[in-house]
Amino acid sequence: MITRRQTLLAVTAFTAFAFAVPAHAADKLKALIIDGQNNHKWQSTTPIIKQALEDSGRFTVDISTSPPKGNKDKAAWDAWRPDFKAYDVLVSNYNGDMWPEEVQTAFIDYVKNGGGLVILHAANNSFGGWDEYNKMIGLGGWGGRNEKSGPYVYFEDGKFVRDESKGGGGHHGKQHPFKVTIHDADHPITKGLPAEWMHAQDELYDSLRGPAENMTVLATAYSDPAMGGRGKNEPMMMVLSYGKGRIYHTPMGHADYSMKCRGFQVTTARGAEWAATGKVTIPVPDDFPKDEVVSVK
Ligand code: ZN
Repeated sequence: MITRRQTLLAVTAFTAFAFAVPAHAADKLKALIIDGQNNHKWQSTTPIIKQALEDSGRFTVDISTSPPKGNKDKAAWDAWRPDFKAYDVLVSNYNGDMWPEEVQTAFIDYVKNGGGLVILHAANNSFGGWDEYNKMIGLGGWGGRNEKSGPYVYFEDGKFVRDESKGGGGHHGKQHPFKVTIHDADHPITKGLPAEWMHAQDELYDSLRGPAENMTVLATAYSDPAMGGRGKNEPMMMVLSYGKGRIYHTPMGHADYSMKCRGFQVTTARGAEWAATGKVTIPVPDDFPKDEVVSVK
């Protein structure tokens, strides 16, 4: 039996602990990066994502690493139960095996009830057959995606087009640095960014497709046929809602050298802050890339 005195002691102890935490740490948002499987080198990209979030001064960051791909050890999967609810925002660097049903349900509940989510690069390749996930990310590539997944979305002749034509989802040409063009400069994530900025060497995903509901495209990049692209202005920064949850999605971030782009780092941190709170306080730094010049760190 818990006595009133014990309860009081517990409250006093908790209060003392809470006041012992420095105010600036207590103010920080809690982010959880999810990795462990990817057809990309998550071992070298997760530390850059973590650093970018921490360098913004706005986040503390934990990492939850799933069992490896093709793992048939049920005990390992049973032991992997990330505590989504303990975080303000989840950042997915995961592209791999379907999660256990209990984790899927917890993930849906988390976002639906107002949790923040950030989707980076190949995380939009994951879970091609998981409808709720595809509603969260809006657009995805590969993973069996085709016209049944939803339209292609691109910017053409002054407007965003939803193209229902048949074909697979996901393609890219040769890697290269490319220009990102802001379409919505009034959104908290993009406010104050240069109207165009040069992103460091990356894969420029084209032909993504999905339900694309409750989605606003904030920025695009041109998939130049000279580089093997399909010749459309492709979504590069997107925001979505799913229930009460907010999602920031960028197909940028193929490799460590792509993520060293200050543009990627700052927009990812600002996207994560917006997903967590609906506001952005992280400033645009002086070393943010400009029109024609890549900036890496
Ligand atoms: Zn890639």
